[in-house]
Amino acid sequence: MAIFSDDEGFIKKEKKNPIIKSETIEYDNTFENSIRPKDFESYIGQSALKETLKITLEAAKRRDKTLDHMLFYGPPGLGKTTIAGVIAAQMGVEIRITSAPALERPRDIIGILMSLKGGEILFIDEIHRLNKVAEEILYPAMEDFTLDMTTGKSQTAKTLRIPLPKFTLIGATTKAGELSSPLRDRFGIIHRLEFYTVEELASVVKRTAKILEIDITPDGAEAIALRSRGTPRIANRLIKRVSDFALVKYDGKIDKNVANESLDALKIDEFGLDTTDRALLNLIIEKYDGGPVGVETIAAALSEDVRTIEDVCEPYLLQAGLLQRTPRGRKVSPEGYRHLGKRIPSEQTKLFEEIL
Ligand code: ADP
Repeated sequence: MAIFSDDEGFIKKEKKNPIIKSETIEYDNTFENSIRPKDFESYIGQSALKETLKITLEAAKRRDKTLDHMLFYGPPGLGKTTIAGVIAAQMGVEIRITSAPALERPRDIIGILMSLKGGEILFIDEIHRLNKVAEEILYPAMEDFTLDMTTGKSQTAKTLRIPLPKFTLIGATTKAGELSSPLRDRFGIIHRLEFYTVEELASVVKRTAKILEIDITPDGAEAIALRSRGTPRIANRLIKRVSDFALVKYDGKIDKNVANESLDALKIDEFGLDTTDRALLNLIIEKYDGGPVGVETIAAALSEDVRTIEDVCEPYLLQAGLLQRTPRGRKVSPEGYRHLGKRIPSEQTKLFEEIL
């Protein structure tokens, strides 16, 4: 692969740092990171993934080898970044976290690769959004740990092969299908993260409550878990908001009643759907006769971004069986109608309306 570096050279210090957090996850003390599990024991659920990883990590340690490159995919908030941090901690190596949109120019990815130390983990979020040039720089880096560079232009061009330290690339994506196959094929481990069960989410809620010193009963934790859409990030967000309610409107303790009343007030229904999810289902039912309708039309009507609809709203609506994806667009399922308390139009009525 040829990269034409300009006269400025890529080694110059960049103004824009493409690494979001170059330090280990532990040093970042934002809310999300303060409650982020750091080891396999506190990483709840995803047991198949954990079992595979434990063996892979142990084998790499025994052989004193760098871990294979890994790709984790699934909807946002299911723990892809977190598991990458757990892997780094277990291997006792640093993790560098960046995301594909921050790697716009060749020099962004080259700069990161050249600054890696042996055994380190490079985590690239939203890896399906890498541009072609960055992807092609990654191929030899992932396969042979080299950087193939061409300096100068046309006849005076020279190819340089720069060795890189052995590193592990962990990619995360919400859209595995959008990865090019040459990139996908370079990952030794590809794993899809699953939505969490209510029991698992209740454990997430209890664990977070303990860290944040929030008083919660087991049925309070379960009530929050039930409305968390199978997603730990949402469970954590809800417990924080419910604890604000509990503090201001009740005696500070969260039980089932406090949780349910707070969540009702926050307009999160018993399926965990929020106002945008319900607006989406309502729109398809009211304006498009239940569908099918294209995602662009839905996004425009709701004044939302197509990516938000596809990555944030739809995965759970599809998994909960409220929405269906057809070749002609999205359709609300009979469960979706029932959930919103709407009458399901019979096929005959629909046919009759179409003829008229
Ligand atoms: P993703 O990278 O898939 O979008 P993250 O790894 O950032 O998701 O996880 C979002 C939040 O959810 C984290 O801050 C973490 O606290 C919590 N979380 C994710 N997975 C787990 C888990 N398995 N156990 C406990 N908490 C989790």
